[in-house]
Amino acid sequence: MSHFQDIHDLNKEIRACTKCKLAHTRTFAISGEGNPGSKLMLLAQSPGKSEDEQNKMFTGPSGKLFDELLEQAGVARESIYLTNLIKCMLPNSRRPSREEISQCRYYIDKEIEIVKPKTIVPLGFHSTRFIFSKYQIPRPPKNEYHKLFGRVFYSGEMIIYPLRHPTALLFNPGKREEMERNYRMLNRFLILDF
Ligand code: SF4
Repeated sequence: MSHFQDIHDLNKEIRACTKCKLAHTRTFAISGEGNPGSKLMLLAQSPGKSEDEQNKMFTGPSGKLFDELLEQAGVARESIYLTNLIKCMLPNSRRPSREEISQCRYYIDKEIEIVKPKTIVPLGFHSTRFIFSKYQIPRPPKNEYHKLFGRVFYSGEMIIYPLRHPTALLFNPGKREEMERNYRMLNRFLILDF
């Protein structure tokens, strides 16, 4: 079976999932999007209200910022695989609990297994902490995670490139130049021949 079929089947499973209590407050469980054959996987945190209403990743204000960052980096959304650590909206944009992450991680583990990206780009604190833990990269104290954004890490053959989540720009527009510079690197991970 091709990995396109495998991801199609997994996404069907995600959309029907009721494994945790977030199933009661979401409208849609949002599956991954984009190119399942991509070398580059971006891992966002969770859908927001707008994504939950529209059943699509990165819509609304953070979606607009995400598209701007990708455009200036010369990267098309369709060329990457894009998914969330938690597939259902977190009420009132609260933080995900460890229990919710551990209940939903089955899906992200399967997505990585099927897509087989060469580079994983966790967006923001929770996704970065999860990926560092999964690939056994030493984790800094919570207040030092910002130092990881825009740096390249390796775990065996896997490249990990943490970035700030686009939503950070909504609260801190002064980070734009730094984020544009770091997002520009995404293009290299797409075209590099490993
Ligand atoms: S958050 Fe994950 S585990 Fe919980 S219901 Fe949604 S898809 Fe299922």
